[in-house]
Amino acid sequence: MPLLLRTEAQWRAWRAKRSSTVLGLVPTMGSLHEGHLALMREAKRRAEDVVTTIFVNPTQFGPQEDLSRYPRDLEGDVRRCGDVGVDVVFAPVPEEMYPQGHQTFVEVQGLSRRWEGERRPGHFRGVATVVTQLLALFRPHVAVFGQKDYQQLKVLERLVKDLHLGVELVALPTVRDADGLAMSSRNAYLSSNERIAALSLSRGLRKAQALAASGETSAEVLMSAVRRELTESGAREDYVALVDSQTLEPLEMTDASSPARMLVAAFVGKTRLIDNAAISASGPASASPAPDQA
Ligand code: AMP
Repeated sequence: MPLLLRTEAQWRAWRAKRSSTVLGLVPTMGSLHEGHLALMREAKRRAEDVVTTIFVNPTQFGPQEDLSRYPRDLEGDVRRCGDVGVDVVFAPVPEEMYPQGHQTFVEVQGLSRRWEGERRPGHFRGVATVVTQLLALFRPHVAVFGQKDYQQLKVLERLVKDLHLGVELVALPTVRDADGLAMSSRNAYLSSNERIAALSLSRGLRKAQALAASGETSAEVLMSAVRRELTESGAREDYVALVDSQTLEPLEMTDASSPARMLVAAFVGKTRLIDNAAISASGPASASPAPDQA
C-alpha cells in the first residue's frame, strides 16, 4: 500500500530520507479510473518513486460548477494507487494548499484564453497555480498528464517552459471505454441513457478523422460532422473547434504540414464532457480510426 500523506511537512520528512531517487508526479483530482492509472504506470516506468496527488482544487472550479458534488473516494483511490505501484499518495485539505493569506496565482495568458478558458473563466489560472505549487513542493524529475485535457496539457507545457521549471512533462493518449467513451471521473454523473448520448462526442471525432483521412480539408465540414453526432444524440454543444495542435488557434483548413486537433465540449443532461482527437490531413483512410491516432 502507498503511504498516505496529508501535509507538506509530512512530505518533506519522507523525501528527506529518500532525497536522491528519481521522482515521478501524477497530479489528479481523485475518483481514479483506468485513465489515471495509465499515467501512474508510466510514471513508475520512468521514476523510482511515484507520488500521486489527489486534490479537488477549489481554485479551478467556477462558482456555478460542481466542486461540492465532484466524486470523492479517497480510500478506494489509495487502494487503486497501490495496485499500480505508487509510493506516496498526497491528499491535502484545501487549507494546506491555500492557507489564510495565500496571494499568489499563476496565469498562462495566450493558451488559456480560448475554449475551456473562455467557457470556464479562471479555470486555467487555478490549474496553473496548483500545478506550479505541486511542482515546487515535490520537485519531480518527470510529471505525467493525459491528452484527455488537451488544452490543459498545452497550458502546462507552456508554464513549464516559461518558468524554466525543468521538469519533463509526459503526455499519454486518452484511455477510453471499449465503446469509445473517454474515461472521466464525471462519467459517474451520467444515467444509462445519458451515457449512450455521451458516446456522440467520440463518435463525432472518429467521423471527423475518417473524413479528414479521405481527403476532406475544410474545418467547417469536419466540425459539422462532430456537431451532427452531438445533435442527433441530444447532446448540447458547448464548442466544437478545429485548432492548430500547438497554438490552439482555430483553423479554416487542415494542412499536412501542421498537425490539427479537434476539440469538443458538450452537455449531456447537466453533465459537461470534453474530448479531443488528432486530425490528420494526409495518408490513406484507416479502417477504424481511433480518436488518439496521430
Ligand atoms: P483529473 O483527475 O480529471 O484532474 O485528471 C488528472 C490527470 O488524468 C490529467 O492529466 C488528465 O488529463 C488525466 N486523465 C483524465 N482522464 C483521462 C483519460 N481518460 N485518459 C488519460 N488521461 C486522463
